Amino acid sequence: MKNFSERNILKIISKGLLKVSEGELPNVDLLNGLNKLAGYAYFEHGLSDYPGNYFELIQLSYKPLSSWVMINEENYQDKTLLSQDGNLSDFALELATSKENDLIMKLMKKFRKDEDGQEKYTYVRRFLIENPVIKLLEFRKKRLNHKFSEVFEDISKFYETPPISSQKEKNYHLCKSCDWISDFNKYDQKICSSSSCSKDFTEIAVNESYLRVKKNVMTFIVNPGRAELNILEKINRFNNLTTQLYPFFDVFDIEIYSKSENEKWALDVKDYIDPKNLAASLETIPDYGWNKGFFVIPKHRVNKTYMRAVKNNWKNNQDNVEIISEKDLFKRLEAKFR
Ligand SMILES: [Zn+2]
Repeated sequence: MKNFSERNILKIISKGLLKVSEGELPNVDLLNGLNKLAGYAYFEHGLSDYPGNYFELIQLSYKPLSSWVMINEENYQDKTLLSQDGNLSDFALELATSKENDLIMKLMKKFRKDEDGQEKYTYVRRFLIENPVIKLLEFRKKRLNHKFSEVFEDISKFYETPPISSQKEKNYHLCKSCDWISDFNKYDQKICSSSSCSKDFTEIAVNESYLRVKKNVMTFIVNPGRAELNILEKINRFNNLTTQLYPFFDVFDIEIYSKSENEKWALDVKDYIDPKNLAASLETIPDYGWNKGFFVIPKHRVNKTYMRAVKNNWKNNQDNVEIISEKDLFKRLEAKFR
């Protein structure tokens, strides 16, 4: 219960900090988080040493959680909510946004009424993952040649022209880890889509028009989506299996069907930095006629302590659903379907 309250308070504060980074200061979430933190410190721990206003709360957010006297949860003691460059840390970002962003929700709602909705939805999502940066000319060309040219209107809402802050001496800097055009902060440091990006960049000339997906699209769709597509491609090498990406409008990530075995597997790929954030985000996989369900942890996240932490903190155990590493998933697929 205690851990739940702490996580919840940190979540509300993180939401507030996200809004601050978008220029909304103060905001309801930040003030709400401030009150909740004060109440928790005072009533749970009898402490009067808590931030008294949102400036103090922001100052505290730069410090590791071990120095927040009221927060005891040992698993995220070394984490901060803000990183030194003033951006939300990846840890806080995961807390603030356990649900997908609004744009994709709206799109889903719209496509549900459409006969080709599932195909269009999957197309849009895939397009974003495969093209975090695209030349304007190429975008137009793709639109012209596509059978669903009307969805490009929807797709364009996920993109922006890179802002002035992303230009340096008439160049953009394309990140070699995430393929996004990075920004510069006021200290002239490159700020990319994730703190796990390497510091390797290619310079590209500004004189051609480019579009890049918005930063939150990198966070919620592109970065996690790469692991999903990568796993899908590998499953598609089994020639006796059929797959559907984002079935039933994204109820889970990948459906695998074997006609000969009469088996359906449901996969939900979970690419989180923090295993406890991941465990807290796991809900039940809705029953759409599958026999086995898996939460799949992509290979770049997996190590022994990570897998153990996810499993130990998983609260909503569900029949016929397992948490599995990417590697073990493919062992199971080999054994069953090869
Ligand atoms: Zn990057």
